[in-house]
Amino acid sequence: MARIGFAGLGIMGSRMASNLLAKGHSVMVWNRSARACDPLRSKGAAVGSSPAQLAGAADVVMSCLADPAAVREVWLGEKGFVSALRPGMRCVDFSTISPGLARELSQMCRARGAEFLEAPVTGSKLGAQEGTLLLMTSGRRSVHDELEPLLACIGKRSIYLGEAGAATTMKLIGNSIISAMLESLAEGFTLGRKAGLTPEQILEVVQASGFASPYWAFKGGAMIRRDFETHFSIDLLHKDQVLALAEAAALRVPMPALAATHQVCSSARAQGFGGEDIAAVIKAVEALAGMTDAAVHR
Ligand code: NAP
Repeated sequence: MARIGFAGLGIMGSRMASNLLAKGHSVMVWNRSARACDPLRSKGAAVGSSPAQLAGAADVVMSCLADPAAVREVWLGEKGFVSALRPGMRCVDFSTISPGLARELSQMCRARGAEFLEAPVTGSKLGAQEGTLLLMTSGRRSVHDELEPLLACIGKRSIYLGEAGAATTMKLIGNSIISAMLESLAEGFTLGRKAGLTPEQILEVVQASGFASPYWAFKGGAMIRRDFETHFSIDLLHKDQVLALAEAAALRVPMPALAATHQVCSSARAQGFGGEDIAAVIKAVEALAGMTDAAVHR
């Protein structure tokens, strides 16, 4: 059983840390807002006062944090993980960040004699809860292999993609695909409503077609129920779009569809629902079409 230090107990991290505890590992947790540690404490986790304290007490440190700024603070800050790493330690980050920051973390950990595995995830809140996430990893292959039993507490599969930066790039590609799927579903439902087709009819046909997807059912179902409880927030998808567009610009790859969906997410945030689930982008699309909530419910 491993001694794990886990930082970041938001929607995803709290569930990942719970699953590590449930599999019998010794886990010490830390979260910026200390209150989020209470449910983990009641499940048997120790609670640390800083990421550095976690690193001092662990063989493996892990994090799942909002964005690059948070990751920089928790890993490279004054009381960050890196300040307390020992040779031979293993470091894993599940957050969605930039490929450049992933490479920087890899170098900083290696400079302290530790190894960094970048392991962004997909599968959302329910996948984190059930321990069925899909992990994309990069770093040394031997480190991926060594850590696979721990990763298996969190996800059903880990796909190794190569050297530092590769897994994060893949994660950003995945979220640009999700962005396009959400946008096209929201636009289709909105056009359908104005033309007299119900979203239920549209989803039934789509799911019977050659382009059916479990993702249409997941997010289409939420749009139909108007259930915007957060699994993955518009704010965080917006952050990933910014990261993907920056990477695309650096590599001179135009991504016009992503740029358009990014503007719709910006509009959703401007209207005040950035904290809601990504299914709520339909509200921004409806607003563009001049449809009020009352019109949608008629
Ligand atoms: P979340 O619920 O918003 O949690 C974010 C976490 O980051 C919280 O623990 C928060 O601490 C911490 N944090 C934010 N800024 C910080 C800072 N400056 N210093 C220290 N800690 C900070 O987000 P989430 O949905 O769990 O997502 C976490 C990561 O996984 C993100 O990178 C996201 O893109 C990625 N991801 C999410 C999903 C999903 O479906 N939700 C799926 C795949 C990947 P506080 O509690 O103090 O705010």
